[in-house]
Amino acid sequence: MALASNLGFPRIGPRRELKRAVERYWKGKISADELHAAARAIRRDNWTWQKQAGIEHIPCNDFSLYDHVLDTAALVGAVPSRYQAGDGTISLDTYFAMARGRQDVPAMEMTKWFDTNYHYIVPEFANGQTFRPASTKPLDEFREAKELGIHTRPVLLGPVSFLLLGKAESEDLDPLALLDDLLPVYEQVLRELAAAGADWIQLDEPCLVLDLNAAQKPAFEAAYRRLANVSDRLKLLVATYFGDLRDNLATAVALPVAALHVDFVRGADPLDDILQKLPQEMSLSLGVVDGRNIWKNDLERSLKVVRRAVDALGSERVIVGPSCSLLHGPVDIEVETGLDEELRGWLAFARQKLAEIVTLTRAVNEGEGAVETELAANRAVMASRRTSPRIHNQAVKDRAAAVTGEMLARQSGHAERRDQQARHIKLPLLPTTTIGSFPQTRDVRKARASARAGTMSAQEYERFLRAETEQAVRIQEEIGLDVLVHGEFERNDMVEYFGEHLSGFTPTSNGWVQSYGSRCVKPPIIYGDLQRTAPMTVDWWQYAQSLSKKPVKGMLTGPVTILQWSFVRDDQSRAETCRQIALAMRDEVSDLEAAGCKIIQIDEPAIREGLPLRRKDWDAYLKWAVDCFRLTSSGVRDETQIHTHMCYAEFNDIIKSIGAMDADVISIEATRSKMELLDAFVAYQYPNQIGPGVYDIHSPRVPSASEVSELLGKALAVLSPHQLWVNPDCGLKTRGWDEVKQSLTNMVAAAKEQRARVGVESPAD
Ligand code: GLN
Ligand code: ZN
Repeated sequence: MALASNLGFPRIGPRRELKRAVERYWKGKISADELHAAARAIRRDNWTWQKQAGIEHIPCNDFSLYDHVLDTAALVGAVPSRYQAGDGTISLDTYFAMARGRQDVPAMEMTKWFDTNYHYIVPEFANGQTFRPASTKPLDEFREAKELGIHTRPVLLGPVSFLLLGKAESEDLDPLALLDDLLPVYEQVLRELAAAGADWIQLDEPCLVLDLNAAQKPAFEAAYRRLANVSDRLKLLVATYFGDLRDNLATAVALPVAALHVDFVRGADPLDDILQKLPQEMSLSLGVVDGRNIWKNDLERSLKVVRRAVDALGSERVIVGPSCSLLHGPVDIEVETGLDEELRGWLAFARQKLAEIVTLTRAVNEGEGAVETELAANRAVMASRRTSPRIHNQAVKDRAAAVTGEMLARQSGHAERRDQQARHIKLPLLPTTTIGSFPQTRDVRKARASARAGTMSAQEYERFLRAETEQAVRIQEEIGLDVLVHGEFERNDMVEYFGEHLSGFTPTSNGWVQSYGSRCVKPPIIYGDLQRTAPMTVDWWQYAQSLSKKPVKGMLTGPVTILQWSFVRDDQSRAETCRQIALAMRDEVSDLEAAGCKIIQIDEPAIREGLPLRRKDWDAYLKWAVDCFRLTSSGVRDETQIHTHMCYAEFNDIIKSIGAMDADVISIEATRSKMELLDAFVAYQYPNQIGPGVYDIHSPRVPSASEVSELLGKALAVLSPHQLWVNPDCGLKTRGWDEVKQSLTNMVAAAKEQRARVGVESPAD
């Protein structure tokens, strides 16, 4: 019989119970025991739901109080010495100190988990690194489930991926060289799990979908040769996900393990190829239900895949599951109150996906007759999505199909544009500005919540936002900034705001997904052809501009970032959806220009994170991503200045594409790299203007004028004074007004000092 399985379940709870408990613990409002009790309650619900749904391989140890990679570091005793863990097990407070830092020590680094919006804590490997069993978490959770009468499949991050995802203290330390030292800890964990009654163990090796070099591939075989020998009663399943195996398929099928999990949603490995290469003794776990999106599965299509596998391998060797852990989607559509019935009918959150997995499994085990009702209902849903006028808008499709090359290019080259803009906008040398948002204070958040709850009237809320905007404009004038912003007080989030305003796009009320630790995000859903029905930002810009003689920037989120931070429809390509967003945003750009806006910023902080996992796929992505940005930004006159913003500092490998975006001004994060990232721009001879961030907004620290000035000096050593803008690293919404005022005042003073020093007149003067 084929088996119904799951790879991982969301940990946050349907109403973010984990977030609440963890944050209360951090604030000292509840004890460790109370925190553990809250965590146990979530685990119990998760396991019970999976069991009730009919899942046979139910994961345990997929739960985490913060992050599963951090859990793995704790499991193997990889605690950096600055947290002084001693030799014993790792206390809860040491664990959280590693995640979040402590008064005396900064946190460990955090980075994106492959190409998802989940962030993991990067393991650190010191020179002379050793490992030791330092936590019993997998065993504890296995026993906890057992006591509830639920037999589980423990999940561990595989040893090779764990090492590859970490970073070494020094360059000559290759993390993979630590494999031999690491494996005994894994062996012991497996032995203990076997002794406690475990049979299947899931080892996640998502690095198998990345480009691997000749030294990395053999590590997998070496590792699993040892782990496979630990116990006769254990069956190991190696799970890959987020992409295809391609040239790593040979490595994967050569592993001496009982089963291999392959992602058939994002991966494009031909099934027949895998079926053919799979050795006799290996089962295939089919990831056919999308773990990263919220759409109901097309059961008929998935069934074809499952059936083909059953025909080729026999049902005994087939496991049905989600493409990856369900961690990346919300928990339960039942608690989603913000969506109408029709839309909800198209969606499946984690709990609903369990049912889909079971239906598919039953269909091959018991015959389709056994699940006739489910299949018929699913066929109806698929038909409705194919034809619903809420999804399909011919005018939008026609317009996207009619995009011409001309629409992707500004009228003139950058040099010509720069002259025209200098005449039109009149700015001093080294113009000062900010990235867009100003502090979202408790008052702002409270007012928004009241407006949502209906306890504050729409007019009252509008008045409140106007007052905030006015105050922000006054403060910017006092500080003496050259280019102002309206402050984004009306926006809860830079993507959700547009999700609320575009048709074919909707925010949710409870579609929370863990981003990192206790931080959750609520990506809006792009369900249909996207259309702008009215201007979305013009009123706010106009109001802010009416308060000042200085130019106020129009502030928009770029199409790639909107795509990247949303749940995206799966019935057309991402590139196609992105083009529709770009056209809608292009109209907004035109309206801002028509209203008199001279400078329009289109933020694209997510362009880099959209990069495919495999290098070979980068160019195709960058081509459409850049084209979409250009489609948004190119409909304006030469004299209108387009800005973009990206808050990261790695540009070396994509600098050509950044250049191809052809924004007149780009602001980037630069403080933490001390302006070193400018090297990429200099080497590439980036011709347009750049605002390398001169202070880190992630810290409450106020930079002095002299340190900002010094950074500007560094920038001026490699850039022309006519090329340089002065701004912080990113938006200021998470900061307090006091720090913001002081920091910006110092920034303006530094700009003035450097202006005097450079002593060149601006071409506009
Ligand atoms: N304009 C946005 C802000 O200032 C940009 C945010 C971002 O780059 N993530 O908040
Ligand atoms: Zn930013």
